Amino acid sequence: MAQFIREFAISRDLRVRSDKFGNLIVCYRRGRGHRPVAFVAHMDHPGFEVTEDAAGGFVMTRFLGSVPRQYFRPGGRVRLFGADGERRATIWSVPDVDWAKEKLVRLRLKGAARRGDFGMWDLPPVKTNHRLIWSRACDDLAGCLVLLGMLDDLVQSRIPGTAYAVFTRAEETGFHGAMGLMESRLIPRSAVVVSVESSKELPHAPMGQGPIIRVGDRATTFDPRVTMFLEEVAARVARADRRFVFQRKLMDGGTCESTVYCHHGYHAGGVCLSMGNYHNLGPGEHIREEYVDAGDVQKTVQFFIEVVRRSNDYGRAMRLLKQRMDTLFERGRRQLLQTAASMRLPLPQPGVFTEPE
Ligand SMILES: [Zn+2]
Repeated sequence: MAQFIREFAISRDLRVRSDKFGNLIVCYRRGRGHRPVAFVAHMDHPGFEVTEDAAGGFVMTRFLGSVPRQYFRPGGRVRLFGADGERRATIWSVPDVDWAKEKLVRLRLKGAARRGDFGMWDLPPVKTNHRLIWSRACDDLAGCLVLLGMLDDLVQSRIPGTAYAVFTRAEETGFHGAMGLMESRLIPRSAVVVSVESSKELPHAPMGQGPIIRVGDRATTFDPRVTMFLEEVAARVARADRRFVFQRKLMDGGTCESTVYCHHGYHAGGVCLSMGNYHNLGPGEHIREEYVDAGDVQKTVQFFIEVVRRSNDYGRAMRLLKQRMDTLFERGRRQLLQTAASMRLPLPQPGVFTEPE
């Protein structure tokens, strides 16, 4: 993943940096005086980590990321990735230890494996019928795909603006990469931060209805200034292009990195794509590819281009709301005072409803 992203950026003359935790930061800048926008997607996906060297036969792995135990049926197919290529394996057994604490899975394999090799469910890397995109890992490769599509469009169209495409590691194990990114301090404090996720499809946030501006996640609600800004830009895109649609929803199916960025004082919000078979959990407790809507991917790229172009409008939606409230109150204030006077209501005594002088 990281290598592909680096080569993609370098071949477009974009500056790539990485921090000591292995997060990647690609910077696009054209012109001056634009408020930076940092879009963040994570590169990892739930998977197996080989915990010992094995000459062949059997090997113990640890599963990282949230998948319920009943999906690990004996015979389940896994693909291991090591320095000397890919090899197939199957689930042999799941040791009887507390699944919530450690997800140990014993695999049977032909050939050797080394400690630190990783594994994924043995599913096709990617398939599409041009309406849907299926992959063994849409979460969050679809988010990464959106960021690469955005970088490509920015470069091709020479759009003025400053955008960071940030690719983090180890989200599925609890935002380790995102927290490392905060320690690295490579994102300017003035940046509007947008976490870009593939999120479990919810009945009120269906697939195919465009990017979802995420008001919050299971843990927190995000910065309302960012949400308002994103909504204003999306509404502008929708006015210009009748095919463009978007949603604004609380996606509380999981927690996302935006919670981390808000906690560290960034102006952060989130945008997600609705995704089927979240974490490869298919119907009937079978492991399946995740899938997203290709139109949602395309619309999210279109939306982000406009977010970059309009970044200096950040704060405007909030100011307009304040003005609107002030005007509303100004209109009603006098009448409110006059009618209140005629009601002869007792005014608060000092020290009862107010602090004593
Ligand atoms: Zn996930």
